[in-house]
Amino acid sequence: MTADTTQTKEKFTITTSTTTSSTENITTQVKALDIKDSQKSAHNHHKHHHHLLHKYNTNGEEASDDDEDDESCSPRSPVTLGPSPSVAKEHGLSRLIKNNRAWSKAIKERQPDFFEKCSQGQQPKVFWIGCSDSRVPENELLQLAPGEVFTHRNIANVVVSTDLNCLSVLQYAVEVLKVEHVVVCGHYGCGGVAAALGDHSYGLIDHWLGNIKEVKAQHQDNLDQIQDKEEKCRALVEINARNSVLTVAKSPIMKAAWERGQKVEIVGLVYDIQTGLLGELGYHVKNAEDLKAQLSVDSSALFSARAAS
Ligand SMILES: [Zn+2]
Repeated sequence: MTADTTQTKEKFTITTSTTTSSTENITTQVKALDIKDSQKSAHNHHKHHHHLLHKYNTNGEEASDDDEDDESCSPRSPVTLGPSPSVAKEHGLSRLIKNNRAWSKAIKERQPDFFEKCSQGQQPKVFWIGCSDSRVPENELLQLAPGEVFTHRNIANVVVSTDLNCLSVLQYAVEVLKVEHVVVCGHYGCGGVAAALGDHSYGLIDHWLGNIKEVKAQHQDNLDQIQDKEEKCRALVEINARNSVLTVAKSPIMKAAWERGQKVEIVGLVYDIQTGLLGELGYHVKNAEDLKAQLSVDSSALFSARAAS
């Protein structure tokens, strides 16, 4: 087992808890389980692979040592569609399922009625619009448990007024769940934003990146004054997140919510994958007046403000 696998395992577990102490406990438990598993697989390369679900009983525990995990069934089958043990093995799915069993078990040990309560409904206060990037997992970096954050993620956290998917999620979040905070979170080191800064063609995704290129074009003069390539990318990350905040704020969904007096604000954040820290972009849009004020800020003032900060 590699260090990377350990980190992944830790990520799977951290989101399971709302307190630091319980997080540590769960992480320790799963780490111990993982070390045991890696020792097993190292000694069982000659054994045949068994069907994924046979290894677990109905309580989610390993059925027996005879059905141990095996990473080396040869020859390997090509990846095909449909459920098959070989596909599961190719993708390491057996390990993922094992992680999930351990995660569920650890939560139930700490809070036996957790999943029962989950099944009764969700009441998240936060709607998160973020990038699909695997390094920006909202539940984990916010330290929120399942049920506490409603989510929409796409490449480069783009919100456009014609995206039926994103707007449907927004409508559900605001009108049904009645979230109090809509967070648009960009992140430094965003591959989507970096791609939109360049001229390379990537095929289908160019259509999506076109949305960011439009934002870039609107601020081209100010962006051109930033010589450092990375700093230019950081600036576009911030401007792109701001644009998504404004697009959410301009939507009929938010307009109607504010008109009926619903308390819901939109905030722009940026996440730094080098530090793990969230930063505020410096504005909250809580009503139509706030939106109007933000729309009146010109591009140069925006860039001057970020240069001064
Ligand atoms: Zn990204």
